[in-house]
Formats: sequence, structure tokens, C-alpha cells
Amino acid sequence: MAKTDIGPPDYKTMLPPVISRNYGKWLYHEILKPGVLMHIAESGEALYTVRAGSPRLISTDHIREICDLAEKYCDGYLRFTSRHNIEFLLDDKNKVDPLIAELTSLNYPVGGTGHAISNIVHTQGWVHCHTPATDASGPVKALMDEIYDYFVTMKLPNHVRIALACCLNMCGAVHCSDIAILGIHRTVPKTDNTRVPNVCEIPSTVASCPTGAIRGDMKAKTVTVNDEKCMYCGNCYTVCPAMPIADPDNDGISIWVGGKVSNARSAPKFSKLAIPFLPNNPPRWPEVVEAVKNIIEVYASHARKHERVGEWIERVGWERFFTLTGIPFTDKHIDDYDMATETFRTSTQFKWG
Ligand code: SF4
Ligand code: SF4
Repeated sequence: MAKTDIGPPDYKTMLPPVISRNYGKWLYHEILKPGVLMHIAESGEALYTVRAGSPRLISTDHIREICDLAEKYCDGYLRFTSRHNIEFLLDDKNKVDPLIAELTSLNYPVGGTGHAISNIVHTQGWVHCHTPATDASGPVKALMDEIYDYFVTMKLPNHVRIALACCLNMCGAVHCSDIAILGIHRTVPKTDNTRVPNVCEIPSTVASCPTGAIRGDMKAKTVTVNDEKCMYCGNCYTVCPAMPIADPDNDGISIWVGGKVSNARSAPKFSKLAIPFLPNNPPRWPEVVEAVKNIIEVYASHARKHERVGEWIERVGWERFFTLTGIPFTDKHIDDYDMATETFRTSTQFKWG
């Protein structure tokens, strides 16, 4: 019988020898150039890391190609980062530039270090999930094509983390990123009363609604939705397959800004709504790409060195953020959920326009 509950393989069995030898004994690191890191250990040994972009969704052929490169330059060792970049780990500085030359010839972008825009953390989209309001791989490719230069250089005030989630389950990092792209619905779920009694557990469907818009109809063994209370989150569809919510004409993307997870300088922040709705416009999502580029460019030209997007906005004020970016401020930006009052201004301090 096959073994079970064996857990993941021990990562220590897969470390390059230079890392094993100096594990826990690193002194300092430097970014030698975009995409290349050097770590120096107490022993004096050096580790060189070459970081290359990855589309995350990759074929086994592509993985074999990466493995071949690792065999050729890194004795077969590599790793993937928490933003799905590939890192080739070398102990020989002389191999760094030949590896970069071969990566470049194979169209791998080398970068994503320092004050850059690294990979976009993203989700399944129309490739694999049943609850998305937008795609993931498509918008990510369209956007990274346009902001490619920020991946291969380090010219921003600080790094800008971009994340995408295709519904507000927010798998990933949209709630805590400098710029977040989030799929949203704008129509009420369509309840199929003939299927609800067979495929849905009514109490958990009722309980899934954050606004109490769903009521059980025990006589008909189905549920009713109060359209006025629904804000199209799609939670009910997650638990009840007879309440589909996807709507090609009204689904789209919202843009959020100012989140961060690090504790450097300021505490971690949630990202906040910047643009309530942009249309799904496959295959290149031009409205979304344009909107994100605009925010990056305004941030790049106004923020102080080391300021993250959220720190810059909080310094200049949100009203100034909307003025500088030219993004219209609407009623959709005003929080009306639990604890909304904490987000209202309770001060006379504000700037005109
Ligand atoms: S964010 Fe939503 S739609 Fe996207 S993968 Fe997660 S659950 Fe699925
Ligand atoms: S979409 Fe969300 S708000 Fe609307 S009924 Fe379903 S759970 Fe409630």
C-alpha cells in the first residue's frame, strides 16, 4: 500500500552545497545589478542568485528547460520565490553573465530585485476556477508587457507589489498590495429554484451572505434574495451551485492601492479602493493596463525615496491622490460596511483639490 501522510520532502536535501555549508551564517547581501543578488557568508563564501520572471502557469516542457539551465549553470539547483520568480543559485561568479545571456536569448526577463516591479501574484481566473469575475493570466500578461521596463530596472522610489485576484475571495495578496487588481460582479445571483432543493444546504447558503440578503423559503425548499441588500460578492454561489452570479456584460475589475505587509517604517496596511469598475476587455484589458500604469507613473514622480505607495498616499492625503491621478472620487469609494465610520474623516484637516 502507498505510504500516506508523508508530508513534503525535507528542503534541506535540496539545498545547493554553498547554502548548506553556510546555513544561518550569512553576513550581508548586495544587489549587484537588476536580477542579480550576492550573499556573503561568515566563511567568506559567496552565493550568486539570478532571478528571472515566470508566468507561474507553466508546462512541463518549460520546467524541463529551466532544469536544463540549472544543470548547466548551477549543478542542478534552483528555487522558486514567493512571487513565482525563478532563482538560479550559483557559487561561481563567472557563470552569472553567461547564464543571463542564455536566459535573455530564451526570452526570460532577468530582474524583479530592489526598487522594481516584480512578478504579479495572481490566481486561477478562467483557466480553472468556477467563481471568477475576470481572468488572471490574461490581464497579468497584458500588464507585465506594458510595465516590463520596471521589472528589469530599479528606478522606482521603492518596490511596488502588484497582485491580482479574479474574485473577492482574494486568493493571494490583493488585500495587502501596493496595487491590486480585483475581479468584481455587479449583478444579483440568479437563483435556480428547481436546483436549490437538490444541490444546496439552505442554512449554510443563508449564512454565507455578509449582508443578510438571503432568506430561506422552507415551504418551497429554496432561498430568496433581497436585491436591494445584495452587493454581488458571490459568496452564496461558492456554497450553492444553483445561484450562479457570473455576468459577461457586467463583471469587471476594480483597482485597489496602498497595501503592504512589511513593518518597515510603517505598519502593514490594507489596500483601499481606487477605481470601482473597469470593464473586462480581453485579450489585452487596455483600460486596466492604462489605469495601473497611470498610478505607477504618478507614484514614481511624486513619492519620496523608500516610500511605498500607501505611505506616499497617506503623506499627501487621499484627496490629493485622486487629484494627482485624475481618478474620479465617487460614492462607491465611501465605506458602508461594518465599522465604516472609522474610515470617515472626523477632522477639519483636509486639502482643497
Ligand atoms: S480569487 Fe476567486 S475566482 Fe480567483 S481563484 Fe480564488 S476563488 Fe477562484
Ligand atoms: S452575492 Fe453576496 S451579497 Fe449577494 S446574495 Fe449572494 S452572498 Fe449575499
